[in-house]
Amino acid sequence: MKRTARRLADGREIIYFDDEPGRERAAEDTRELPPQAPASEMRLDPLTDEWVAIAAHRQSRTYKPPAEMCPLCPTSPGRPTEIPEPDYDIVVFENQFPSFAEGIPGESSTVDGMPMVPAAPARGRCEVVCFTSDHDSSFAALGPERVRGVVDVWADRTTALSAIPGVEQVFCFENRGEEIGVTLHHPHGQIYGYPFVTPKTQTMLRVAEAYRAEHGRHVMGDVLAAERASGSRVLVDSEHWTAFVPAAARWPVEVQIVPHRQVPDIAALTDDERDDFAPTYLDVLGRLDRLYDKPLPYIAAWHQAPVRTGRDLSWLHLELFSVLRSADKLKYLAGSESGMAVWINDATPEQIAERLR
Ligand SMILES: [Zn+2]
Repeated sequence: MKRTARRLADGREIIYFDDEPGRERAAEDTRELPPQAPASEMRLDPLTDEWVAIAAHRQSRTYKPPAEMCPLCPTSPGRPTEIPEPDYDIVVFENQFPSFAEGIPGESSTVDGMPMVPAAPARGRCEVVCFTSDHDSSFAALGPERVRGVVDVWADRTTALSAIPGVEQVFCFENRGEEIGVTLHHPHGQIYGYPFVTPKTQTMLRVAEAYRAEHGRHVMGDVLAAERASGSRVLVDSEHWTAFVPAAARWPVEVQIVPHRQVPDIAALTDDERDDFAPTYLDVLGRLDRLYDKPLPYIAAWHQAPVRTGRDLSWLHLELFSVLRSADKLKYLAGSESGMAVWINDATPEQIAERLR
């Protein structure tokens, strides 16, 4: 793919990824935008040792496009959007209202002088990825070649964000559907470069380390082998990937898509593994949309290794789940889940797999 990096009117970076090598991307952003001044802060919860990002500036948005205008569609005459070009294949740009951003001023400190509550500028990077210029499409409708291109873009961004000083983990994800608070229907995902290793990844690294000390192998490798041998929760078993409902699924719809080879992140996947991922993922997404005969709201979350630590203990995988427990009923995160992080699932993982077959 051809890669062209440009700047938007407020200085944010936009990168076009084009299928054809000859594409020129020279359109200027004609909007009058205030200069970017992100001011997010992060504070450490002293009781759980987890960082919380506080993005107060997100409430004081000075520029908001009219409701009828999608900011992720290409620019058309008289309707400037986030993408100055009149068309695009895949495009990535810095989020206008980032939770983490480079260049946030300030120093590390403590909250109200409490030494047990460190605070720091939330330096990192938040990007938006538009998978297609077609507003009414969806990831499931992209087709294998475009999905293959998106994998390359995720790999490119993982490498690029990993190289930013202070970024400790890169998270590629997609939120799809109004039920999970998505206000923009245009097919898009996001990429976060966090300035710390996320709590979930820290837990998985700890577990993988203990498992390796006891068994001498990676826990994901053993899980993968056991799931493939059992088959009762497997949805798709391709040459390089297996998709299965985890044996202890938390959500009413939940699938893990795991490469057969232990790799730390998307950038480490071979061409063959990337080629094989596209039809595998589209197969799974098709099953999700057929489940209730309507586009299923979902969250797709790539678990990647931290940039500097625990890379040999990490095993890339995609976690895909939905909050919808029937065609019109949502699973709410209630007392047990929200208060204690103890999940209660009304369906057995085997039933979930059966419905998705
Ligand atoms: Zn759109």
